[in-house]
Amino acid sequence: MSKFAWVTLTTNDTYSLGALVLAHSLKRAKTAHQLAVLVTPNVSQAMRDRLKEVYNVVQEVNVLDSQDAANLALLSRPELGVTFTKLHCWRLVQFEKCVFLDADTLFFADWSTADIKKHLPFVYNVTAYASYCYLPAFKQFRDKIKILHFAGKLKPWLIQFNSETKVASVSSEYAHAQDLIQLWWNIFCENVIQSLSTEMCLCLNI
Ligand code: UDP
Ligand code: MN
Repeated sequence: MSKFAWVTLTTNDTYSLGALVLAHSLKRAKTAHQLAVLVTPNVSQAMRDRLKEVYNVVQEVNVLDSQDAANLALLSRPELGVTFTKLHCWRLVQFEKCVFLDADTLFFADWSTADIKKHLPFVYNVTAYASYCYLPAFKQFRDKIKILHFAGKLKPWLIQFNSETKVASVSSEYAHAQDLIQLWWNIFCENVIQSLSTEMCLCLNI
């Protein structure tokens, strides 16, 4: 078994939806490496059971909070103090190498490790919700994306999704990312939703 792992973090059942889709996207990309997820006490037992179906390691950790209210206010993301919890990744000493991925990322099959040095090139952290000055690079590298990151408040699981037509409704502001948001939902529908109980779906508003 590989000594390397992809690691993500979820502090609640909603971000766990992202972690489930991320795990399936890594499997679709035929990763040879192990999958590990850090969970905090707030993640329900039912959700941990779902995570265990796709992750090799589901490790409980305590919440680390940056308590940096001033800078989080500048980002208008007061809820992101808990993202410090990802530092627990360093405790996964059973692995020789870990790559941490946010739970709001997807991974694409043509990954190549040959050129990863210290700085990740554009295509390894492509932000789905581009600001206007980002769009030219987004267009240029659209077909070469290795890792897609839904950074920002509007996560794919919060986007309106029609469960009959299986189409995500994306506002014009995010039109350039429509197919990528749809890809997240396709993975969710094909690999994740059947493992969730009706009660969980109702609770999570999906
Ligand atoms: N996260 C979490 N619970 C939260 C907020 C964040 O588990 O309430 C984790 C999750 O893995 C997430 C990462 O921390 O992907 C970073 O947060 P987020 O992706 O929301 O930040 P952004 O990429 O939008 O800056
Ligand atoms: Mn993120």
